[in-house]
Amino acid sequence: MSENRTEIADLGEFGLIKRVTKTFELNNKSSVLGIGDDAAVIRSEQKTQVVSTDLLVEGVHFDLAYVPLQHLGFKAVAVNVSDVAAMNAIPKQITVSIALSNRFSVEAVEALYAGIKSACAEYKVDLIGGDTSASNAGLVVSITIIGEVGEQDLVRRKGCSKGDIVCATGDFGAAYLGLQVLAREKEVYKTNPDMQPKLEEYQYLIERQLKPKARMDIVHELKERAIVPTSMIDVSDGLGSEVLHLEEENGHGLVVYEDKIPYEKETYETAVEFGVDPITCAMNGGEDYELLFTINQKDHDALKNVADISFIGYVGEANAKSKLVTRGGNVVEIEAQGWNHLKK
Ligand code: ADP
Ligand code: MG
Repeated sequence: MSENRTEIADLGEFGLIKRVTKTFELNNKSSVLGIGDDAAVIRSEQKTQVVSTDLLVEGVHFDLAYVPLQHLGFKAVAVNVSDVAAMNAIPKQITVSIALSNRFSVEAVEALYAGIKSACAEYKVDLIGGDTSASNAGLVVSITIIGEVGEQDLVRRKGCSKGDIVCATGDFGAAYLGLQVLAREKEVYKTNPDMQPKLEEYQYLIERQLKPKARMDIVHELKERAIVPTSMIDVSDGLGSEVLHLEEENGHGLVVYEDKIPYEKETYETAVEFGVDPITCAMNGGEDYELLFTINQKDHDALKNVADISFIGYVGEANAKSKLVTRGGNVVEIEAQGWNHLKK
């Protein structure tokens, strides 16, 4: 434990909240009243609201042995922003609820909130409230996010038609491999604490795991080009799983081409090192927080020069299964279970 350790009991719940939230400001017009009253107040004119919540539980969703609290705070906000982005909406407010045991110091909670604050700045969202509780075991962080969108711009999972183009942002599989690298180093450290972790060569993968970015930049790109996707979802559980969600919602199979799925060189090399197929990492890895969406064919040209958007396939027949066309030209059905051996 570090030398600067203030017990939460010394400050009390109110003192703790004051201390960790005092530097947060309200910047959005729709945030009328923030922390300090019985409820926050928001007011938005002529927009549709979207709301989403994410719950992160220590030992289930994160391991503090290799996730610094500041990164955890940033990521907890980013994953919520990603859900708002997937509705084609703009994030505006968050509430943050935490449960913690006396294992955590005031300084630890400050680190968590420093990460939350940096994500609030990055994504232009206001922290407007939350709740705090003691916990008998680990740390629990739950964030609720509120966003807004013009009714005509709202994009759901459901809405695509046969012939629409399937698009994906960024690259896939890196966050999953980042987690494998961190887990491996943790094991090495357990057996030999004097060993220095070898992480430099995996920087990109680790960054993707610890500090994922929500693709608000793409939401803005789409808006600038006046393109409204016909369906959209964010990729939290692997590309394969999200393709199946779109199939289920729309009743059409998607056809995806292996050679169009983007992944980085580092992802490829590390997959080989771990003895897994890079495409398996992309399809079932998870935590990429990229966007998977479909567009009408008429919008193809307007998007073809946008960096970081790849056209990876098309929406197929009604009632057909989703398929992956491999580099060798084989057609394999995309199955959630087929990839499950990868999961922890
Ligand atoms: P109540 O008893 O009504 O639940 P609290 O004492 O829990 O009120 O909270 C007081 C204020 O502090 C409220 O505005 C609440 O939204 C805010 N708050 C409480 N916990 C947190 C937290 N972990 N993060 C941010 N704001 C919080
Ligand atoms: Mg409360």
